[in-house]
Amino acid sequence: MVDRPVMMVTGAGRGIGAATARLAAARGHDLLLTWRGAQAAAAATAEACRASGAAVELVQADAGDPAATAAAFGRLDARFGRIDALVVNAGITGPASDFLTSSDATWAEVFRVNVLGLASACRQAAQRMATSRGGAGGGIVAVSSRAAQIGSAFEFVHYAASKGAVDSLVLGLARELGGEGIRVNAVAPGMIDTDIHASAGIPERIGRIVPGIPLRRMGSPEEVAECILFLLSPQAAYVNGAVLPVGGGR
Ligand code: NAD
Repeated sequence: MVDRPVMMVTGAGRGIGAATARLAAARGHDLLLTWRGAQAAAAATAEACRASGAAVELVQADAGDPAATAAAFGRLDARFGRIDALVVNAGITGPASDFLTSSDATWAEVFRVNVLGLASACRQAAQRMATSRGGAGGGIVAVSSRAAQIGSAFEFVHYAASKGAVDSLVLGLARELGGEGIRVNAVAPGMIDTDIHASAGIPERIGRIVPGIPLRRMGSPEEVAECILFLLSPQAAYVNGAVLPVGGGR
């Protein structure tokens, strides 16, 4: 029997993370899914993945807490004993604010989840994947944002800056880990139809931005999931250090 590849997806309860988990399950992966917040949504994602034939371990873990991330990898070791792919999806925008009135607490929390969380998960995964440590290599995809290149002035400079750090980390890790058989890439979604916008605190934002998107619509979580699965697939075997825009041309 051929072993099924094992993928970890962070923040898999809803949105892009949930769509990625479902697609990966449908394509034959077993999964460790982390979640924070809505337990019912996370359980529903896990159930949908199991219905596709995947073995699923569901773990509550704050992505910005390195100890919780280490514990999640411990659960992965115990259940599956391997990891082939990591999707670092968990992320927050923090409250909308112009720069002059933004708080240090907002900057700290957004960087804790989006940047420290990413580095911590990538390190845990890479230690297991690295060929020099007896691993079999693997693939990592970070969920960045087009905001990294746009700057999101007057609303989410703190968020855009954190995603700029994500892009930089992806480039550095691609170079450092390529020799270990690990490819590291990112997707940079534009405006995707998920609940993140409801929590972002600017209700008219979608109507303001969508007309400026060349494709004139938001993207779906499933469209982003397809790109994540592509970057992790053998079809992308020579893609390393790429940040793939998935923003309808914006
Ligand atoms: P979402 O808010 O629906 O999903 C985010 C998920 O991350 C949720 O399940 C949430 O519980 C989880 N999460 C947040 N903080 C966490 C933490 N500390 N620990 C564990 N889980 C945590 O939003 P989404 O749009 O699906 O966002 C997924 C990723 O996509 C994020 O990194 C986000 O920055 C990025 N992104 C989204 C858009 C968009 O327009 N929706 C655009 C660009 C980038």
